[in-house]
Amino acid sequence: MGSGAVGNDFRRKNFMIQVPGEFSIIKEDNVTHSFCGLACVGWMYQKIKDSFFLILGTHTCAHFLQNALGMMIFAKPRFGIALIEEGDLAKQEPTLEEIIAEIKADHNPSVIFLLSSCTPEVMKVDFKGLAHHLSTPDVPVLFVPASGLVYNFTQAEDSVLHALVSFCPEAPAGEKKVVFLGSVNDSTADDLRAEAEALGIPVGGFLPESRFDKMPAIGPDTVLAPIQPYLSRVAVKLERERGAHTLHSLFPFGPDGTRVFWEDLAKEFGITVDLRDREQAAWEKIRKQTELLRDKKVFLTADTMMELPLARFLKSAGADVVECSSAYINKKFLGRELAALEGVRVVEQPNFHRQLEDVERIRPDLIVTSLMTANPFAGHGFVVKWSMEFMLMPIHSWSGVISLANLFVSPLQRRSKLPAFDKEVWLEGVMPSAE
Ligand code: SF4
Repeated sequence: MGSGAVGNDFRRKNFMIQVPGEFSIIKEDNVTHSFCGLACVGWMYQKIKDSFFLILGTHTCAHFLQNALGMMIFAKPRFGIALIEEGDLAKQEPTLEEIIAEIKADHNPSVIFLLSSCTPEVMKVDFKGLAHHLSTPDVPVLFVPASGLVYNFTQAEDSVLHALVSFCPEAPAGEKKVVFLGSVNDSTADDLRAEAEALGIPVGGFLPESRFDKMPAIGPDTVLAPIQPYLSRVAVKLERERGAHTLHSLFPFGPDGTRVFWEDLAKEFGITVDLRDREQAAWEKIRKQTELLRDKKVFLTADTMMELPLARFLKSAGADVVECSSAYINKKFLGRELAALEGVRVVEQPNFHRQLEDVERIRPDLIVTSLMTANPFAGHGFVVKWSMEFMLMPIHSWSGVISLANLFVSPLQRRSKLPAFDKEVWLEGVMPSAE
């Protein structure tokens, strides 16, 4: 497998969901996920620097990781696969003690995440029991469900954060601080912290921090500020278990989202700030890009679950978002984004075959889509952008505005430099001379 199914060719069934407010979501019957959750290892192991990620999987999983993450065997990355061979299929309890001992000797991790995969999940391996059995007081082994069977691939980060919750100290009542929810690289984290402090917002930290023993304290007066749009489950867990409060705002992408995010967060702490000038200045910085995006028809297929905030930025930038689809849409967690997308066709679990027909009919100027579907679309003459790139680039807050805008315009610019062609195969990244 490697990537979750694009979807079966079910007959199209769709229905509308009316959520409070004026906006509605079209719910179809197809894509529930688009890629394998094991992909989260690629960014999570880099973020939590004293961790090791162990996957109990098959050769298929190994092949996927090797290709998707560009695994370098000689670099001794802090992740690995315990391979299930045919002979193991009869066993319910794989033995991992030797592998764990080897990992500890080679990498000296503070925590080991044990990730499930499709085959052992189908075999009903008791991962929780296994992780408990392998844990020691100095190095806990934490179970993370990450197969391509259940969740969208970005939600595997949610599962990692779930596993970390019990290692966040309890913050006492009365200690009001913000904890940013979501994995971002260290310089983006420094940036967000500095911005919050400049606005007078006390910072409790990030979940996750870059070291296992530095996870933030969370308690009844913690304000959780989600900075990635696919972490609704861990936010709910922290609300239930710690009494924390989640900020429901726009996500800090683009000048519009960033202004609203910081103004709303400041309000949680009784601070009134007006960042309209700053927003205006940020739009000014990307004027060339927004001129190029204006009135362009953009189609977003379901992939990363970042689609709603990205579409909202595009809409604010003057683009014509002809469809924004996502694997799952949590109406509460994404409520502000949905409201800002009023008038845009928003689809949950889109039927990919219907999307193909619509793409052919609408002929969008730009398609933001997954690794699986990008090249076939490009082969049919469409300009495409890999949605995965938005996860890997620093696009948060004020400092990320230019990167965000450039990600959208770069394929348009590249196409405009190519000589005119008709239905010629053009694959993004294959023609560097066209840059
Ligand atoms: S966990 Fe499942 S979807 Fe992911 S690589 Fe392994 S077999 Fe494929």
